[in-house]
Order: sequence, then C-alpha cells, then structure tokens
Amino acid sequence: MPREPNAEELEHALEVAHRIWWVGHHFTDDPFQCHPYLIEHGDQSVLLDPGSVLTFSTTLRKIEEVIPLSSIRYIICHHQDPDITGILPQLDTLITREDARILSHWRGNALLKHLGLQRLPLSCVEEQGWKLELGGRELQFIFTPYLHFSGAFCTFDPATGTLFSSDLFGGLSRDTPLFARDERAFEAIQVFHEHYMPSQEILRHGLANLETLPIRLIAPQHGSLIPEPLVGYMFTQLKNLDCGLFLLTRTNSNYQRLSNLNRMLREMMQTLMIQRNFSEVASRILELAQPLIPTFGLEFFALTETDEILYMAPENGFRATLLPTAPAECRAFLGISRAHWQQDHAGPYLVAPYPGTALSPGGEAIEQGLILPLFSPQNDLVQAVVLFRLSAPLIIDDGMAHILTQLSIPLGVAVEREIILHRMDLEKKNAYERSIRDPLTGLFTRYYMHEAMNRLTRIHDRDSNASIALLAFDIDHFKSVNDTYGHAMGDVTLRVVAKILADSVRGVDIPVRLGGEEFVIFLIGAPEKTTQEVAERIRMRVQKQLFEPPMHERNVTISCGIAFRQIEEPIEQTMERADLALYQAKTGGRNRVVVSATPPPPPG
Ligand code: GH3
Ligand code: MG
Ligand code: MG
Repeated sequence: MPREPNAEELEHALEVAHRIWWVGHHFTDDPFQCHPYLIEHGDQSVLLDPGSVLTFSTTLRKIEEVIPLSSIRYIICHHQDPDITGILPQLDTLITREDARILSHWRGNALLKHLGLQRLPLSCVEEQGWKLELGGRELQFIFTPYLHFSGAFCTFDPATGTLFSSDLFGGLSRDTPLFARDERAFEAIQVFHEHYMPSQEILRHGLANLETLPIRLIAPQHGSLIPEPLVGYMFTQLKNLDCGLFLLTRTNSNYQRLSNLNRMLREMMQTLMIQRNFSEVASRILELAQPLIPTFGLEFFALTETDEILYMAPENGFRATLLPTAPAECRAFLGISRAHWQQDHAGPYLVAPYPGTALSPGGEAIEQGLILPLFSPQNDLVQAVVLFRLSAPLIIDDGMAHILTQLSIPLGVAVEREIILHRMDLEKKNAYERSIRDPLTGLFTRYYMHEAMNRLTRIHDRDSNASIALLAFDIDHFKSVNDTYGHAMGDVTLRVVAKILADSVRGVDIPVRLGGEEFVIFLIGAPEKTTQEVAERIRMRVQKQLFEPPMHERNVTISCGIAFRQIEEPIEQTMERADLALYQAKTGGRNRVVVSATPPPPPG
C-alpha cells in the first residue's frame, strides 16, 4: 500500500506511479477534492483533467516542478464539467506550442467550443481509434458513456497500469486521504455514486469496459486514489451499488427532490432507532416529509388484534387512543391484503377529499387527504393507514409515487412498533387492574388500599379537608350462610354485599375487600355525620336485601366500626381503632354501627 503523504509532501507534485504525477491542490475541509494528473513523457507529456481557476496556480507550480509547461503536448478532458475544463481558456494562452491540443469526446468537443478557445485545437478521441501514440508509449481511451456525462471516457496507461477514471471511482468525503487505506474508502465512493450515476445498468456497462484492463492504480478525479490491492474490491462493490435515482423515476429527474427523499429516508430510519416516543417520531417524520409533500400533518389509524382502531394524531399528541372505528375512507382499507389493494389502486396511495374533522393551522377546512396504506411485514395485510392532511393539491407523477412507496417503509416500522407498545401497555394495565381488583367482588384489594393510603394520608396531613374516615365491615354469622346454603351461596352473598358497599359511596371513596367477609371503606373528605349516615345506610340496605332461593327467607346483616383518621396518625392505628369499634358492634349484638372514640392528640 502506498504511504499517505504528509502535509509537506502534499505541497509538491507527487509521483503516484512511475512518472505519473498528482499535481492537485489539497483543500482542507473540502469534500470535493479535484485531482489533475500529469503523465511525464518528455516533450510529449500529458495533462489530465487540468481543473478550475480555483486550483490552477498550484497545479501550474507543481507541473513546473516536474517539467516546463512547454513539454505538455496533450490536455485530456475526460468530460466537460467546469471543475475539469474551467482553466482551459487560460491554458489556451499559456501553452504556445503549435502541436499542442485538447483531447475529448465529440460531445465535449461541441461544448468546449463555447469556451471560446483561440489557439488550442480540440481533437476527438474516437477519431483517432480511442488511443494516443506518445512515441514509445500508448494511452488507451475507454468510452464510459453517461458516467456521468454522456460523452464521458477514461484513460488507461498500460505502462504503469494507471486508470485515470474521471468521475468513476470518485469519492466524496470530509476526510479524504490521497490514497484509499482500506475497504472503508468505499463509503465515500458510495455517497458520490449513488446519486451521481444514472443507473446500475449504465454503471455496470462502464465497469465491464474497464474490468478487463490490468489496473494497478485507479486515479479518479475526486476522492482517494485506489491502490492495486483495493481495485477488485471497489469494482465488486460498485457493480452491486444500488444507484440511479434518476432512472427509478423515469419521467421525473428532479434531482433535488430525489436527493431529499434519500436524506429523508435515512434520517427517518435514524429517528426510529433513536426515538422511542411515537409523538417525537411522528413530528420528525412530518418535518422530514414536508419538503416533498405539501402537508399540514399526519394521522394514523391502526388495526389492533381485537379489531379496534388505534388513533394517533396531533390532536391526541400521537398517544395511541382507541376508537370504535375510523373514517369510512380509511377503515375500508384496514385489514385488506396487498393483492386486494393493488386490484383497486394503481399506486401505493389514494388522494381523496379529506375525511377527517381537523382544520388547517389557519383554521380553514382541509380539502384533500392522502391515504397511504401500511402493510404488515408478517402477513402483508394493511395494518394501518396514514392520512396526510394536504395543504395543496398533490401532483402524483411516477416520482411522487416512488417517494410514497419509499415513505411507507419507515412509517410502517414506526406504526408497527406503536401497535406492539400499545399491546404491551394494555397488558401492563390489565395486570395492574388485576392486582388492584378483587376478582370475586370487583372491590379494591388490600394491595391497592396500601397504595392509595400512602398517597391519601400525605394529602390529609397537609389538608385537613381531605379527611379519611375508615369504615370496617364484617358480615354477621357468615359462616352459617356457607354452612346452610353452601359455599356458592356464600359467594353470591359476598357479591351482593360488595355491590351495596360500592353503590353507597362516591367515586373518590375507596371500598376494599380485605379478605373473607371483611370489608373496609375509606370515605375521603366526608364530614363525621355523613360518614355515620353512610354506614347506617349500608347496614340497613344489607339487612333489607332480598336474596333468591334458596336463601330467600334469610336476612343477612352486617356490623360496622368507624374511626376517623387524625392528622399524622399512622393508618394502621386508625384501622386498629376501627377494628376495635367493629368488635364492639359484634359484642354489642351485631347489625349495628359503632364509632371509635377519637384518641388523645399525640404528645407535643
Ligand atoms: P361473626 O358474626 O362473628 O363475624 O361470625 P362469622 O361466621 O361471620 O365469622 P367467621 O370469621 O368465623 O367466619 C367467616 C367465614 O367466611 C369463614 C369462611 O369459611 C368464610 N369465607 C371466607 N372467605 C370466603 C369466600 O371467599 N367465600 C365464601 N363463600 N366464604 C368465605
Ligand atoms: Mg370475620
Ligand atoms: Mg363475620
């Protein structure tokens, strides 16, 4: 591998192969380095791709380090971009020898005329059999049309095995060593080629013309020179490069738009990797899509396993909300197969009157919506649709259709993940719900009671209005219900009593089944009098409750002990006091309510 020249060496003409000189100028921090080369061959020397006005003073100085300018007979221009030909008018005056000439392809010939050269004649490579005889050395020209210019070609020097490849194998990178060090150099080549080369077919065609040459060094016009050990690798990589966005959208060559698309997709994928929050993913996707699609915002409708609709939109902060259904225009597509969609629609989208209720940011009705189906990777069914609120009519040509197809990939990934997260969320909620609800009666569990009391006692300690009254209930002689009518009737009784408890309190209150036939109700912010009334009402309702056969003639009764929590009193102590009152109610004859005496205030 050639050694990377140091800064000092880069200041001079650099011999990259035997008598082949790099006479470029190394710009720091310029990803688009341009390389002119010099083939030193006595008075038949050749300057390749001389460059622009920007670099030429350096190039001239470096040429003259090697040979006098008068030794240059040929100037090869592989194509006709300004970064190659810009300096020709000046060279036209500097090079004075009569037999000097510019070599290019006929298409370039036509263009070069427009530079208004007075003296240097132009010759076409195809008119001299695609070769140049230098006297003891022959250069070969290889036609590589449309790489990237219609009249583009490359030059091969069999004497050194150097391929002057012009834009082909060129790289674009912030950090461009003069010599490619390893396979990673392909990254810079990829960036340059995937947009710049018209299509994989054309690229392969050009490469096929070059592949048979015994190349020992590739000297491109941009990026790094490729030494022999990496030549095969770069050929293989380039042949397999997915490039040619121009041609993917045959009727549309809006390069800017396609380049935006590529950047957008890359950034969307990055966003998906970094962001877990759908609202952030959605806003970023919107931001990235806006240069390509005239849209105010997106809405998502996704189908859940239970055939409900998950709705995500700016209005709900993109937090998945369950809807019974979606607008008919969107609902119709959820769950259908790709084949079904393709049967009815020419493209991967549908533009329709906007079916939602949202308004534009300016408060006006939105006229058009764009519906994009998102297919599940598992079963290829439409698992969600994205509804774009359009801010202007969308012109759908092949290019836009391509954009929409590409766009549906990251959108699909984002939505699918959201559906999964929603399912997990639901499972978590269900698990929590199970942990706080007693399965037999539906009342809260002890677990929830502790959780709620942690919170409510703290509030009560700060605010005496948020009082906590504790009502402890125990069904009287419940054992005999079980013994007489069986355990199943015992369960019915528990459910009926629990319902009376739940129905007798407000939403803020907390009815709990402690276990067996023992219940507690926490009344929040209720005055003492009200509390006693509630307890009394429950007692009466239970007593009056009629049961179905075989328990129909049986009256069930319940006893209750009440304690009012004092500020700073540990809730366990309040419970003990309520229990004591309940015990008193039991010993006092059952079917009654006893209020615990308020304890003396704690010392201090
Ligand atoms: P007291 O008036 O003194 O409270 O008498 P009691 O019979 O209600 O008191 P005890 O605590 O001795 O009896 C409670 C009974 O509740 C015993 C137990 O078999 C029954 N039990 C506990 N949990 C359940 C349940 O989930 N279902 C049914 N059917 N019975 C239960
Ligand atoms: Mg009991
Ligand atoms: Mg009991």
